[in-house]
Amino acid sequence: MSEALFIAVEVSPEVASAPELARKLTEVCPVDIFAQNDDGTLRIVDENLDECVLCELCINAAPAGTIRVVKLYSGETLPAST
Ligand code: SF4
Repeated sequence: MSEALFIAVEVSPEVASAPELARKLTEVCPVDIFAQNDDGTLRIVDENLDECVLCELCINAAPAGTIRVVKLYSGETLPAST
Protein backbone atom coordinates (compact mmCIF):
# COMPACT_ATOMS: atom_id res chain seq x y z
CA MET A 1 0.00 0.00 0.00
CA SER A 2 1.35 3.37 -1.00
CA GLU A 3 2.09 5.95 1.66
CA ALA A 4 1.58 8.83 -0.74
CA LEU A 5 -1.21 11.23 0.12
CA PHE A 6 -1.38 13.47 -2.91
CA ILE A 7 -0.12 11.63 -5.97
CA ALA A 8 -0.49 8.19 -7.48
CA VAL A 9 1.32 7.02 -10.58
CA GLU A 10 -0.22 4.23 -12.60
CA VAL A 11 2.00 2.35 -15.02
CA SER A 12 0.82 -0.33 -17.41
CA PRO A 13 2.30 -3.81 -16.93
CA GLU A 14 4.01 -3.68 -20.37
CA VAL A 15 5.95 -0.60 -19.36
CA ALA A 16 6.70 -1.82 -15.84
CA SER A 17 8.26 -5.00 -17.19
CA ALA A 18 10.30 -3.37 -19.98
CA PRO A 19 13.85 -2.66 -18.76
CA GLU A 20 14.55 -0.09 -21.48
CA LEU A 21 11.48 1.97 -20.61
CA ALA A 22 12.15 1.57 -16.92
CA ARG A 23 15.64 2.97 -17.47
CA LYS A 24 14.25 5.91 -19.42
CA LEU A 25 11.69 6.73 -16.74
CA THR A 26 14.32 6.51 -14.06
CA GLU A 27 16.33 9.09 -15.99
CA VAL A 28 13.59 11.59 -16.81
CA CYS A 29 11.77 12.00 -13.51
CA PRO A 30 13.35 14.97 -11.70
CA VAL A 31 12.28 13.73 -8.26
CA ASP A 32 13.22 10.05 -8.58
CA ILE A 33 9.77 8.53 -8.45
CA PHE A 34 10.95 5.70 -10.71
CA ALA A 35 13.68 3.19 -9.99
CA GLN A 36 14.73 -0.16 -11.39
CA ASN A 37 14.71 -3.48 -9.63
CA ASP A 38 17.72 -5.76 -9.96
CA ASP A 39 16.03 -7.58 -12.84
CA GLY A 40 15.51 -4.31 -14.75
CA THR A 41 11.77 -4.00 -14.09
CA LEU A 42 10.27 -0.75 -12.92
CA ARG A 43 9.75 0.10 -9.29
CA ILE A 44 7.71 3.06 -8.06
CA VAL A 45 9.42 4.80 -5.15
CA ASP A 46 6.44 5.37 -2.86
CA GLU A 47 8.19 7.73 -0.50
CA ASN A 48 8.95 10.13 -3.37
CA LEU A 49 5.49 10.15 -4.94
CA ASP A 50 4.31 13.28 -3.20
CA GLU A 51 7.32 15.17 -4.60
CA CYS A 52 5.86 14.89 -8.11
CA VAL A 53 5.98 18.24 -9.89
CA LEU A 54 3.44 17.22 -12.55
CA CYS A 55 5.97 17.85 -15.30
CA GLU A 56 4.60 15.03 -17.51
CA LEU A 57 8.11 13.98 -18.55
CA CYS A 58 7.29 10.40 -17.62
CA ILE A 59 4.09 10.48 -19.64
CA ASN A 60 5.97 11.80 -22.66
CA ALA A 61 8.74 9.23 -22.28
CA ALA A 62 6.43 6.23 -22.50
CA PRO A 63 3.99 5.04 -25.17
CA ALA A 64 0.71 6.97 -25.15
CA GLY A 65 -1.76 5.79 -22.57
CA THR A 66 0.65 3.67 -20.56
CA ILE A 67 1.30 6.09 -17.69
CA ARG A 68 -1.16 8.16 -15.72
CA VAL A 69 -0.41 10.54 -12.88
CA VAL A 70 -3.39 10.89 -10.55
CA LYS A 71 -3.85 13.90 -8.30
CA LEU A 72 -5.47 12.18 -5.36
CA TYR A 73 -6.44 15.50 -3.80
CA SER A 74 -8.58 16.57 -6.75
CA GLY A 75 -9.26 13.38 -8.66
CA GLU A 76 -7.73 14.87 -11.81
CA THR A 77 -5.37 12.81 -13.91
CA LEU A 78 -2.51 13.62 -16.27
CA PRO A 79 -2.60 13.43 -19.16
CA ALA A 80 -5.99 15.09 -19.04
CA SER A 81 -8.57 12.87 -20.65
CA THR A 82 -9.92 14.24 -23.88
S1 SF4 B 1 5.06 13.97 -13.74
FE1 SF4 B 1 7.26 14.49 -13.62
S2 SF4 B 1 7.71 14.49 -11.43
FE2 SF4 B 1 5.76 13.43 -11.69
S3 SF4 B 1 6.28 11.25 -11.82
FE3 SF4 B 1 6.21 12.05 -13.92
S4 SF4 B 1 8.32 12.67 -14.37
FE4 SF4 B 1 8.18 12.43 -12.17
